[in-house]
Amino acid sequence: MNLLYANDRAGQFPPSYYAATAIGSREFAPLRGEVRADVCIIGAGYTGLSAALHLRQAGVSVVVVEAHRVGFGASGRNGGQVGSGQRQDQGWIEARYGIERAHRLWDMAQDAKALVKSLIAQHNIPAPFAHGVAHAARSMGSFAQQSSYAEKLARDYGYFEIEVLRGGDFAAIVPSPAYVGGGLDRGAGHIHPLNFCIGLGNAAADAGAQIFGGSPVHHIAGGARPIVQTDKGRVICDTVILATNGYGAGLTRQTAARVMPINNFIIATEPLGADAARVLTQNIAVADDRFVVNYWRLSEDGRLLFGGGESYGYRFPNIIPTVMKPMLQVYPHLRGVRIDYAWGGTLAITPTRMPYAARLGPILTASGYSGHGVALATMAGKLMAQATQGQSAGFDLLTQVAPPAFPGLGGLRWPLLVGAMTWYSLRDRMGW
Ligand SMILES: Cc1cc2nc3c(=O)[nH]c(=O)nc-3n(C[C@H](O)[C@H](O)[C@H](O)COP(=O)(O)OP(=O)(O)OC[C@H]3O[C@@H](n4cnc5c(N)ncnc54)[C@H](O)[C@@H]3O)c2cc1C
Repeated sequence: MNLLYANDRAGQFPPSYYAATAIGSREFAPLRGEVRADVCIIGAGYTGLSAALHLRQAGVSVVVVEAHRVGFGASGRNGGQVGSGQRQDQGWIEARYGIERAHRLWDMAQDAKALVKSLIAQHNIPAPFAHGVAHAARSMGSFAQQSSYAEKLARDYGYFEIEVLRGGDFAAIVPSPAYVGGGLDRGAGHIHPLNFCIGLGNAAADAGAQIFGGSPVHHIAGGARPIVQTDKGRVICDTVILATNGYGAGLTRQTAARVMPINNFIIATEPLGADAARVLTQNIAVADDRFVVNYWRLSEDGRLLFGGGESYGYRFPNIIPTVMKPMLQVYPHLRGVRIDYAWGGTLAITPTRMPYAARLGPILTASGYSGHGVALATMAGKLMAQATQGQSAGFDLLTQVAPPAFPGLGGLRWPLLVGAMTWYSLRDRMGW
């Protein structure tokens, strides 16, 4: 079973709200025969397309090979939240990697948000950046943790964008009975993820990147010049950038050991009209404090886009009931609302939730953003482009904090991981 084909029609977007509102999607023909390029990029999501665009801006010849189409993967299906920082909090990062690296990683993540905004502006991408992501706390303990983290970011990192809101003040923007308060991060934001990805692809193509759709890569042959082999063609290049995230862990052994694919799901309600204000009173996104995070926002036409639920096998479950359940816990008044779209996607997590970036001979790779990839994947693509040009400080920093392999016993690893993830999500459901 291959995640590239397990749940979707070849070459098609899933039946998402994003696909229904996509702007400017182009068809790129499959690769046939042999082509040569300085860099061959595998995967046309944020990582691969950002790398392609930045390489072209430096005058490097680039071929992108994509199994389906631009934005087919997680980049075309996600919650659209452009979060601050890394997936791990700064306290954890400081303890593990030291204060100096923690500051550099924070700055990199700040630059990543700025990069998303500047790419949208420079290339007129129809994915306007709306400011504000609220982090919702279900208990006073969780609320206290969020307050002290906001204080830490202000004190130690000079980040003053988080407003901590208690009880009624929080309910005034997130009118759900499920939360006691939370922090509103005005420096984070949300975008139309597929339109951002399509826009990046079009900008890369217009800058001269050769993009091929419908071109799954089967293997990468080593040697003086690597050869990337697809169904009907091959690319001979100096450097390979592997940007396949949750959909392609099998292409290298090292990635497969550190990056675990997991599935996550989103539903979109019918337009809520005036009732949209009973969901959110401002144009912000929200994520809560569950292990399997609930996240949501309103679409431009007033639908609730609600993400939640996870699965760890190849096949998606029945998505609507999977996501309806947490949605109704957050907004019980929505019982009976019509669901117009439901879709799933595969992302990648690592044991430490830090991204996996590595040089594997002539291959550079970055993946495993652990649900925090809208900004970080876009940044990782830029850093890999710079690294192929000899400016590798940013990429080297990522490789220094790369996660170890998942623990496990050979063939038993996968069931052990699935067991562990199921245990944590069960704790969520039981409220432990
Ligand atoms: C439902 C969902 C919600 C999410 N919500 C958020 C969020 O709100 N905020 C956030 O920051 N992150 C979120 N994420 C994570 C985020 O979407 C990813 O981290 C990010 O999109 C990764 O980008 P990428 O380019 O590395 O991978 P992808 O976008 O997955 O692209 C990889 C591409 O590689 C291609 N590919 C794979 N194997 C091959 C092969 N062998 N040959 C050729 N092509 C291949 C795939 O077809 C795919 O197009 C979410 C993810 C999901 C699934």
